[in-house]
Amino acid sequence: MELCTYKINISGTVQGVGFRPFIYALSQRYLVTGTVSNNSNGVEIILNTDTLTLKQFLIAIEYEYPPLASIDTIQHCEMSYVKFDSFEIIKTQDSGNITVNIPPDVSICEQCEKELLDPENRRYGYPFITCTHCGVRYSIIYDLPYDREHTSMKFFQMCKLCEKEYNNPLDRRYHAQPIGCHDCGPELHLVDNKGIKVEVVKNEIKKTVELLNEGKIIALKGLGGYHLVCDATNKSAIQELRKRKKRPTKPLAVMVRDINMAKRLATISPKEEELLVSQERPIVIVQMKDKHASDISPGISKIGLFLPYTPLHFLLLEKLNCPLVATSANITDEPICTNLESLEKLQNVYDYVLDHNRDIVNGCDDSVLMVVKEQQVMIRRARGYAPISLELPFTLKEKVLALGANQKSTIAIGIENRVILSPHIGDLDSISSVEYYEKNIESLERIYKFLPEVIAHDKESRYSS
Ligand SMILES: [Zn+2]
Ligand SMILES: [Zn+2]
Repeated sequence: MELCTYKINISGTVQGVGFRPFIYALSQRYLVTGTVSNNSNGVEIILNTDTLTLKQFLIAIEYEYPPLASIDTIQHCEMSYVKFDSFEIIKTQDSGNITVNIPPDVSICEQCEKELLDPENRRYGYPFITCTHCGVRYSIIYDLPYDREHTSMKFFQMCKLCEKEYNNPLDRRYHAQPIGCHDCGPELHLVDNKGIKVEVVKNEIKKTVELLNEGKIIALKGLGGYHLVCDATNKSAIQELRKRKKRPTKPLAVMVRDINMAKRLATISPKEEELLVSQERPIVIVQMKDKHASDISPGISKIGLFLPYTPLHFLLLEKLNCPLVATSANITDEPICTNLESLEKLQNVYDYVLDHNRDIVNGCDDSVLMVVKEQQVMIRRARGYAPISLELPFTLKEKVLALGANQKSTIAIGIENRVILSPHIGDLDSISSVEYYEKNIESLERIYKFLPEVIAHDKESRYSS
């Protein structure tokens, strides 16, 4: 059959999710030559092939794309003939308005979980294990395109072994921007509430578990911010946390090791289970079994549960083997703390910090969901679900920045026929929350190289928005 050259453009969540190596693998299967690259709208493929193979190639893309990817559109056209001798992944092409989706942060995948627990694996027990199919994304991104130098992983020089995986298109870690290992990646530090380092080389998790067993309150650095955690079976630790945080009755979220532990605490429907174990790992509000466990959510029979979503949580819960109160580390009505400096305001609340040296660039709270009549109801759209890119049924003539209201605020930017919605920001009743709000605007403007031509905001002049 006659060989022609085709261009395929794919938009959606197609960067930072293993899309190019997936296309590379397809090129080997269908014996086609050409190139694949990221651009500001998604992924561009140039193929030398015949019409029949092109058809098969397109079907394979639609049915087999990587687990974290989602496709909005696939368009293809024939172009003037160019000869290629091989198939190559080429450097990111930069042009025009950026509309590609930023991949959200998701939980550790099954393969990484297996490696994490395998004493033979070189990443055994490594609390930052990740691959193309899982882990941190949005919260470490400074800029698009999503390349390592545009994330807070740029401060970690890969070792030879990691580099080999990173550069092999057939490896699960090909261009997985956040990869590292015991030798080259981020590491844990345990410090007390005066900022003094606790000397427990490579034993930070074990020591943290001991401290939790003693009833201590720990500030734990997660994906999009810090949590305040304590043993959920220790009533006096919970009371102490409430007293120090001045939150006598607010329901506290609880992280459980696995779905079985969740089922011991609450009645869980199949739909709720599906959400709890999903890669987004939201907090799901469910019916508590023991209505007397009033110290977790006084006066309420519901409880917010979630499963570990980072390898660090996973290792901690594995060793602790009991549920963990995990509430966002923030001062009432202020945004979640994302660095040690902002956490200092809570020095009187926590006893120790289990910290690490991978910066959180974009703060992101936990998402909260509940199931009503078998339908999921989003209460707080944040980690795992945000930012989200939505398609408009029309094309905007101008670039629009839309500012949410004073309460439970979010922001959105509109470019062409897409709207990108920020994670939940919260109420704008304090200086820090307004600063956090502004930071979110700056982040989306920077990442999308966006300058608004129209700004939509609340008319109420006393509102900060
Ligand atoms: Zn993984
Ligand atoms: Zn390494």
